[in-house]
Amino acid sequence: QTDHTRYRRVLLKVSGEALMGRRDYGLDTDTVAAIAQDIADVVAMRVEVCLVIGGGNIFRGISGAAGGMDRAQADYMGMLATVMNALAMQSALEKRGVATRVQSAIPMSAVCEPYIRRRAERHMEKGRVVIFAAGTGNPFFTTDTAAALRAVEMKCDVLLKGTQVDGVYSADPRKVADAERYAELTYHEVLARDLSVMDAAAISIARENDLPIIVFNIHAPGAFASVMRGEGKFTRIV
Ligand code: UDP
Repeated sequence: QTDHTRYRRVLLKVSGEALMGRRDYGLDTDTVAAIAQDIADVVAMRVEVCLVIGGGNIFRGISGAAGGMDRAQADYMGMLATVMNALAMQSALEKRGVATRVQSAIPMSAVCEPYIRRRAERHMEKGRVVIFAAGTGNPFFTTDTAAALRAVEMKCDVLLKGTQVDGVYSADPRKVADAERYAELTYHEVLARDLSVMDAAAISIARENDLPIIVFNIHAPGAFASVMRGEGKFTRIV
């Protein structure tokens, strides 16, 4: 472990939307590659990294339900979408020489490992990036909640939420010019002010387990490594 590294083990939540790039559906290979490179750089700092990948770029249960589909059934489709994204990320990481394992909360033995907590921990101890797919494995949940849950299970030092902006703002900085970025917030403030950081279930799990959350811009090249050094722009929730 190098001196400048503050964190030993972290979980990065990457939403499905983050993988779309400028497209409005599916995966943009260059964007996936750029994020994989940033992850590889952090792995090179000897930080143990695990990932939870969303599926919103392909399918969201809530949209399926709005279209008349049974909600639980639609949620399972959403979870399957996260497995596709996880496989894409695995491929991009392995291209960069990063050893990875995908573990799915819905067993799919022909394509990846099933989620086994102790096995995932062992992979991480060996320096492999573990990508957690299929969310929590339960309908009516989100991958944000899965991220908080896995981060606690893996005893991570911090949960990183990579978003499209460099932290949590008082208003949408893309719409409101003088929106203010918070350096630090409490879990309570996030819940009470209904700030759209992660869903309430995820914030609650983090709060109950003293898991700090850091929100940063996943699209700023090198931002993940900067955050690991305590530099750059981000919002910390504690
Ligand atoms: N999902 C689910 N249970 C989980 C995680 C995800 O049912 O534990 C479903 C849900 O339908 C969700 C979809 O998978 O809409 C994709 O996940 P999410 O919307 O969290 O992805 P993101 O917004 O991060 O891209």
